[in-house]
Amino acid sequence: MYYSKLFGKTNKSKPADADSANARLLLQGGFVSQMAAGLYTYLPLGLRVLDKIKQIVREEMNAIDGQEISIPMLSPKEPWVATGRWDTIDVLFKLEGAGNKEYALQCTAEDLITPLVKEQTTSYKDFPLTLYQIQDKFRNEPRAKSGLLRGREFSMKDLYSFHLDQEGFAEYYERSKEAYLKVYRRCGLDAMVVKASGGDFTERFSHEFQVATEAGEDTVYVDKQTGEAYNKEIVDEVDLENTEKYTITKAIEVGNIFPLETRFSKAIGLQVQGADGQMKEVIMGSYGIGPSRVMGSIVEIHHDEAGIIWPESVAPFYAHIVPVNWEDESQKSVAEQLYLALQAKGVEVLLDDRVKRPGEKFADADLLGMPYRITVGRRAVEGFVELRPRKTGEIEELTVTEVIARLS
Ligand code: ATP
Ligand code: MG
Repeated sequence: MYYSKLFGKTNKSKPADADSANARLLLQGGFVSQMAAGLYTYLPLGLRVLDKIKQIVREEMNAIDGQEISIPMLSPKEPWVATGRWDTIDVLFKLEGAGNKEYALQCTAEDLITPLVKEQTTSYKDFPLTLYQIQDKFRNEPRAKSGLLRGREFSMKDLYSFHLDQEGFAEYYERSKEAYLKVYRRCGLDAMVVKASGGDFTERFSHEFQVATEAGEDTVYVDKQTGEAYNKEIVDEVDLENTEKYTITKAIEVGNIFPLETRFSKAIGLQVQGADGQMKEVIMGSYGIGPSRVMGSIVEIHHDEAGIIWPESVAPFYAHIVPVNWEDESQKSVAEQLYLALQAKGVEVLLDDRVKRPGEKFADADLLGMPYRITVGRRAVEGFVELRPRKTGEIEELTVTEVIARLS
């Protein structure tokens, strides 16, 4: 991609008052545009990141037998009434359609997927079953804030598992934890598994995946002796008053898994005939990850004074070629040669083809945060360029051939 053609440009002055690093840097870099509180448009650079995160999530969900589906984001009122949640989910966006018919926008989908599974399954042979979707969710959050961390429309991967026995459920639940940790690791995040209240659904714990950072709005208590971590808003048996016992840290919840027991299958009448001819109740679990919140968290964790430092796995481009002087014929031709050679090897490359002061171009490259900057300067005429990893900033002079070999 030639930077001059890219829709969405860097703008340092824009969000001086942004309430978080991810909001500020993503807006300044031209990754996103804010439409209103909690509503962001993904510009080409930002969408590349979000899509990479979603793809990582997709691969790991497929690896634990997830089958991807897509349920309409707009749903009629009835399924929400059937589960008793039309009036109890306070963040549910409700709309009125033609003929005064009432609708809701998906904020989660237990209410919609349970009737779907009831419709599509006929016997115990259809279970266990694991379905997921990756799409936008809508929540009428009283306070949308912190950029992508808390939006009113945001991306969610929601997976639901259906089992006929507790052992099968428990085993899958543990498997999902490992898959979740893999997702975060691949995204460059070090997440911890935190016990939290099971809420309305179960007496058991649910589990959150939390990334420790001052930018987080959750408070996690880590037991100094056992290493067990708990969310602050939690079951009584944990003595969180005893502050000696815990290391307390701020964190961002990037995922959440829940045992649902038979809360939704009972409400919807989802039962199946077992091998013995007896009707069996279906036990469910629900498993969420917020790819857009993950994207915001990555920026919170991976940035410095100068800008974002994308982990390679989610960077919009791997290499950023910066010719110091685009009007210099040899620099321009070396830059273009590199651009084509790297692309031919499948490397994603951004080329800064603007006629601007080098300082400004370097500052933009730092702000945008691609893993490698290739500076094409005076020595280009002799076949030398500079390779600079964004993370270390350590510059190495290499030949064009060496750079291509190094990055591909
Ligand atoms: P929170 O406690 O932060 O309000 P939640 O517990 O309600 O979130 P879930 O219903 O479990 O969240 O949703 C699954 C995942 O979706 C969360 O772990 C988070 O990563 C993401 N998520 C939830 N709400 C938002 C939001 N308003 N903006 C962005 N991501 C969100
Ligand atoms: Mg939560």
